[in-house]
Amino acid sequence: MIGDRSVTVFYDEVMLGHNPQVDLPYLPSRVEKRVRTILEGLDFKWSYPEHPGRLTAIMDLLKEQPIAGVQIKAGPHATYNQLARVHTSAHLDHLFSLEGQRAWLDRDTTAVSPDSIKAATSAAGNAIAAVEAVVKGECQSAFALVRPPGHHAEPVRSRGFCLFNNVAVAAAHAQAKLGCKRILIVDWDAHHGNGTQDIFWADPDVLFFDIHCAAPFYPGSGKLEDVGAGLGEGYTVNVPVPGDAGDLAFEKAFQDILIPAAERFEPDLILVSAGFDPHRNDMALNLTYDGFAVLTRMAQDIADRHCDGKLAMVLEGGYNLTALSRGVHTVLEVLAGGDVPELVECGLPEVMTAAEFHRDAFTDDD
Ligand SMILES: [Zn+2]
Repeated sequence: MIGDRSVTVFYDEVMLGHNPQVDLPYLPSRVEKRVRTILEGLDFKWSYPEHPGRLTAIMDLLKEQPIAGVQIKAGPHATYNQLARVHTSAHLDHLFSLEGQRAWLDRDTTAVSPDSIKAATSAAGNAIAAVEAVVKGECQSAFALVRPPGHHAEPVRSRGFCLFNNVAVAAAHAQAKLGCKRILIVDWDAHHGNGTQDIFWADPDVLFFDIHCAAPFYPGSGKLEDVGAGLGEGYTVNVPVPGDAGDLAFEKAFQDILIPAAERFEPDLILVSAGFDPHRNDMALNLTYDGFAVLTRMAQDIADRHCDGKLAMVLEGGYNLTALSRGVHTVLEVLAGGDVPELVECGLPEVMTAAEFHRDAFTDDD
């Protein structure tokens, strides 16, 4: 029943301060030219899609429809040393030097506004706070509602709207300070978590499971054969799937690949890079809200079985505001103990379902 389990949401308004604009002068001009060339090729008026309204949409829905068992708190900013566990000092020094400025960081549309660095240290800090809360037993699960997102950020580079790799910073903190030995990171964002993969590529103490839309979908990495290296070989698990995959494909990947991998690994903490762009009305992968509910319960079951239910989620992508806010709300209801529906084949997006419907109408096989 909803309210049977305690959930803490970590959120701070300071993260709304990250607000890059596209119609202001940028640095360096070489990058600006490249970005403008990309934008000119698009047939709509572009604005920075990873905008503050993403978080306010989620918080507004939570205020409008509160969930029993869910409380909201703000965590502190991440420190330089906490970030330096997964990022080079060259990368951090460069980002901190941009405080108060506007700049493009990467040709793939990652930019900062004057308050972005504060927002980014808050995002990483709230991810750390979520992990601390579950490991210390202050709540059964936690969800860090943060932006900018993190899973594309590499040790040396910001990219794909991501400045610091929030989930990796949280995992490294759990290893360094909270006594966690084996951490499972599940990434169900539609895009491959290339940054998280890079950071833990050779680390046998972090099992990274990533289901994502297959290349050439951004960022183009995450092949099935990419399994880690050195001592970390076998501790990176990539599941690239086609763009119309759907709920049942995700459920099967969790059932047949993630659960056995977790069984062998025996994690003592589980983190989820929770993106909502796999929703059928967002970028790719055709999930429904029921799909997110089932995946959440499966992650929760793994946590219950191996680590006393210790489960912390960190927000990644999600650009359709309805799918994002409703998706997060659905996940929080399940974390709080809500019931989970049984999945039925949801088929392809409306237009395809309609096509099938019409075809079925003509082939009566009863
Ligand atoms: Zn994404």
